[in-house]
Amino acid sequence: YSGPKTPNLVYKLEEFASLVEVAGFEVSELVTQYGRADTRFYLGAGKAREVASKDFDVFIAYHSLTPLQVFNLEQLFKRRVVDRVFVILVIFERRAGSIESKLQIELARLRYELPKVKEYLRRAKMGEQLGFLGAGEYVIDSYYRHMVRRISSIKKRLEEAKKGRVMHIKKRKEAGVPEVVLTGYTSAGKTTLFNRLVSENKIVDGRPFATLETYSRALDIWGKRVVLTDTIGFIDDLPPVLIESFHSTLQEIIDADRILLVIDGSEPYEEVARKISTSVRTLGEVGVDRSKIIPIVNKVDKIRLEELRNLRKVLEKYFTWFVPVSALTGFGIEALKAVLFFQVPGYTIVRASGDG
Ligand code: GDP
Repeated sequence: YSGPKTPNLVYKLEEFASLVEVAGFEVSELVTQYGRADTRFYLGAGKAREVASKDFDVFIAYHSLTPLQVFNLEQLFKRRVVDRVFVILVIFERRAGSIESKLQIELARLRYELPKVKEYLRRAKMGEQLGFLGAGEYVIDSYYRHMVRRISSIKKRLEEAKKGRVMHIKKRKEAGVPEVVLTGYTSAGKTTLFNRLVSENKIVDGRPFATLETYSRALDIWGKRVVLTDTIGFIDDLPPVLIESFHSTLQEIIDADRILLVIDGSEPYEEVARKISTSVRTLGEVGVDRSKIIPIVNKVDKIRLEELRNLRKVLEKYFTWFVPVSALTGFGIEALKAVLFFQVPGYTIVRASGDG
């Protein structure tokens, strides 16, 4: 991290370290620099040299880096240098479910890597001797061309995938099975709640994005069939290049009949308030009708009644009610099922017992 020392920095850095781990890296050391940085190296030049002598495989910057910074650091470290955008890309890649979002993410990755490759190409053309990653001009040039071709082919395939999605929604609507999605910030407890509701075992490891694939399961709530889908959810400070791929994951939410907005009620009050308002605003911006949102305050096992009352005040700005649950202990799950039973549109098929 290189930048100013802000009041909630410790929290932000912990969150970032957690993201980095979910992306599959092991954090060996956290390097912080609060002083003036050298724009060429993101860190100060002295600090950068100090880092160069450390033992690590990949350098990951908290902020997004310019192609020139990546180039300079890679030349100095002789190791791979990536940034926040890359970390989120990897996580998106692992979580993408539909063909459309997979393509969308590949496109984002190509667009992310293109400027860096361009920088290497520019240097190679000038006859510069490149150290790390410095293949010859010919190799870099053909890789660059390959990327450009791939980008245009993905764009075409995306058009087709979009048509496919529209067909799929039409079919689902015709079949009459309503769709409910789980969303919310990372670590709110979506996966845990999904597991509760589906009662199947999936890896929950205490880090954001424990769910590494799209999960959709059919649920039977007292005779009512619904399809429950877990989504990637929201991330703070989403890098602009990822907004489009984020929108394709949002599409799953837009298409749903009801949205379970999972809120971690055990976080500091200001964080909870901020996350609720951001979630509601984001959903509103993409055209989700607020009446489709079912607000759920999770982790009530960790909060006092008084704190829950305070949260109610925040939620009252947007909703007239909410469902308090603990996905961990199972508290409130029956109430949530009742809410789903009555709130989700669709028919209930009641069968007499014994008819198989
Ligand atoms: P996701 O990123 O939204 O899918 O969140 P997870 O389901 O992976 O949960 C994040 C962390 O919160 C995990 O360590 C869970 O065990 C924990 N967690 C989830 N629900 C509850 C809850 O109701 N109470 C408590 N105390 N912890 C919970």
